[in-house]
Amino acid sequence: MTFIRNIYCVGRNYAQHAAELGNAMPEKPMIFLKPTHSLVNMKGQAVKLPSDSGEVHYEAELVLRIGQDYRPGIRVDELADAMALGIDFTLRDVQDEVKKKGLPWFPSKGFLNSAAITDLTPFPGFEAVQRMEFMLRKNGQEVQRGKAGDMIFNLQVIVDFIGTLYGLGQGDIIYTGTPAGVGPVKDGDRLELLWGGESAGEITVKMEG
Ligand code: ZN
Repeated sequence: MTFIRNIYCVGRNYAQHAAELGNAMPEKPMIFLKPTHSLVNMKGQAVKLPSDSGEVHYEAELVLRIGQDYRPGIRVDELADAMALGIDFTLRDVQDEVKKKGLPWFPSKGFLNSAAITDLTPFPGFEAVQRMEFMLRKNGQEVQRGKAGDMIFNLQVIVDFIGTLYGLGQGDIIYTGTPAGVGPVKDGDRLELLWGGESAGEITVKMEG
């Protein structure tokens, strides 16, 4: 995998997904982080996910890679040099618990292998990405479908928000939020991400530990 620095993630960036989890529509982007140790490339292999902490949910997402330092006014077309699809694995029961207690999301989002990612492809530009549909299949059945055009905060708004407040530079990646249809995985599930109908990467879930 090419060098990756910070892993930013956007929560609640599709209206139907915010609604399915009973969350209010956010007024500004909600950003959280994953450690780089959570990354795993989707190469068809078995990927271990925790079996002892309640439900693990898949969240299929567009992933943006940043190619240079952020500066105010820079267009996302210039800032981003590549894209991928990814799965933001989430311990949903743990997340419900920490949300209730007002604690950070980290235990529910930062575990090993929680940031699955396909191979990177060149960034095709903001306008093209707006219309490009991505899809997640579980055991051959479509479970999620979305496109950047349906986001609450578009890619330009996201990079401006993160770049201004937290910084963005070469090698950073951003998981840009998940459309509706999230759900639990179980041992042996086959998860495949598709872009424009073409397979971009897949894994088999191995629940362990
Ligand atoms: Zn997510």
